[in-house]
Amino acid sequence: MNQDVWADTQMPFEGDSPAVGPRSPLLNAKVMMVDDEPLMTDLVQALLEDEGYVNFVVCNDPREALALMQAEEPSVLLLDLMMPKVSGFDVLEAVRGNRLTRYTPVIVLTAASGAEAKLRALRLGATDFLSKPVDGSELVLRVRNALAFSHYNNRLRHFDTVTGLPNPILFDRGVDEVLRNRDLVGGLVALMSLHVPDCQALRESLGQAPADEFVKILSRRLYRLTHADDLMPTFATGVDRAPRLARLGPDKFGLLFEGVADVEAVESLAKLLLEVVAEPVNLGGHEVAAHAWVGIALAPADGHTAAVLRKSADLAVTHARQRESIRCLFSSPELNARSLQRLRLGAELRGAAERGELRVHYQPKICIESGRMVGVEALARWQHPEFGLMAPARFISLAEELGLINVVGEWVMAQACRDAAHWATAGLGALTVSVNISKVQLLAGDLPAVVSRIMASSGLPPHQLELELTESLLMDDVDVSRRLMAEIKALGVSLSIDDFGTGYSSLAYLKSFPLDELKVDKSFVDDLPGSASDVALVHTIIDLGHRLGMTVIAEGVETAGQLACLKQLGCDSYQGFLYSKAVPAPDFMALLSEENARFGGANEGLRRATSA
Ligand code: C2E
Ligand code: CA
Ligand code: CA
Repeated sequence: MNQDVWADTQMPFEGDSPAVGPRSPLLNAKVMMVDDEPLMTDLVQALLEDEGYVNFVVCNDPREALALMQAEEPSVLLLDLMMPKVSGFDVLEAVRGNRLTRYTPVIVLTAASGAEAKLRALRLGATDFLSKPVDGSELVLRVRNALAFSHYNNRLRHFDTVTGLPNPILFDRGVDEVLRNRDLVGGLVALMSLHVPDCQALRESLGQAPADEFVKILSRRLYRLTHADDLMPTFATGVDRAPRLARLGPDKFGLLFEGVADVEAVESLAKLLLEVVAEPVNLGGHEVAAHAWVGIALAPADGHTAAVLRKSADLAVTHARQRESIRCLFSSPELNARSLQRLRLGAELRGAAERGELRVHYQPKICIESGRMVGVEALARWQHPEFGLMAPARFISLAEELGLINVVGEWVMAQACRDAAHWATAGLGALTVSVNISKVQLLAGDLPAVVSRIMASSGLPPHQLELELTESLLMDDVDVSRRLMAEIKALGVSLSIDDFGTGYSSLAYLKSFPLDELKVDKSFVDDLPGSASDVALVHTIIDLGHRLGMTVIAEGVETAGQLACLKQLGCDSYQGFLYSKAVPAPDFMALLSEENARFGGANEGLRRATSA
């Protein structure tokens, strides 16, 4: 397809680029010359090059003219009429009879001053004349005018006149091209059909001009969104061009996203579209907030061509509109089931804390040397009325996405602190309780304030609380992390680095963080003691932790063999199914009192005692 045409897509109505003038985009147009005299084509090319044109196709054998034209799709043809073997008239006739070349402007070069040749050329569809010998300034003007005309013609054929966006013809061509080259990019290709029925409604109530204004505003917003520098890097990989945006109908836009990472990213993109469209528009004093729907079709699952994908996406919109509350739908039923369930879960999660459906389960941390509990990790659960007890994998990332993680995380921390304080007053000992902190919680910035508030309300001494921060979280924004960590440490709360070994820590940074505990990730523990390389790795990590003054704990310990190996490598403590899985608070209290009986006294949080 003609790349120049897509390149023409511009910010809708933020000033058209000039059709003529210095360094006009037309100077990049492809100029083709057909003349049996190489001297003549050289001369014409030199004259046009002086003017700034850079793209030429030269044909000195008129018999090849048509084939070359079909292959090269020039924007203008300069055709000599007087040639031996095949005359310019024959070429002109062939060009006008061909579907691909029918509308290309043709300037004929003729020495004949006779009116007859000119009339004949006109009858055959010539666009303009140029007399031989060629006058430089006349040549330049005629070529410029012919190109301006074909540019305008192209715009009419390929672009929507209200918004300046590509129309369905151009959109489909672009989509088909992307689909042909799909393998080059990887990731998902998603075609979205965005329907805004209010456009039609406004036309009926306020008239054509305000309705057009409304459509223009929406198209500008969509253009800005799709051309923002950070949009695609967030959702896709290996894509360096903006998504394709087009106007597909009076109240319909089309978008094509390439290389999108996964279905969740596709959904997020659709939601962004809905957000920018939903923002109120001021139309002559009236605030108008549009309702929109997005239908999504994925290639190749939902189709291999633009036409089929568009139909699928439109069908999805029809289905979405039948259910008022659903704004975005995939055309494939399985994806919808997944996305609807997530939507539903998200809505339910909002009220879960208030309805008392959240739980904290506790998993003991054991000192390897003494075999005694040194602490306990608090792990969130959701007691869902229908799905039963749900693991955090099913709702923590959802909570993060929906901005609910602060509520959930705070609730877990408060509950864990209350429980730990209760164990102490019940005479079971002063255990340290560890709470997991998500990236969003840390970056919210008010974590130190949240922690001190919870310390005060629960009555738990700060040294009995530890926060587990994952390695990748800390490395994401080192300066912010360090500052917040220092503030939290100043409260007397300890810090642990979780999932260690999976986040590419820089040792220099690690050294500068005020950490008390390093937790070796389960993935390194899994193959102990069988894998020599993992044994070596874990050995190194333990050594590193100790050198930096941290207590080292291993997670996910399931077998006696793993434990023996860790003991030999000098690991301080462990947690895992071998000792106990995470259990509800009452079960944990039973576990603790049984252990106290076995050891003959309340647990004093040994780790703190020995390492302080
Ligand atoms: P994590 O912090 O790495 O927690 C360890 C996970 O491994 C827990 O899964 C635990 O139940 C499980 N586990 C413990 N021992 C073993 C074992 O021997 N074998 C196996 N196979 N697994 C074991 P869980 O409770 O499903 O939690 C998963 C993740 O969810 C946690 O990983 C943590 O990142 C996150 N999470 C849990 N609670 C919270 C919370 O309150 N806030 C935040 N932000 N994240 C949480
Ligand atoms: Ca953890
Ligand atoms: Ca972990």
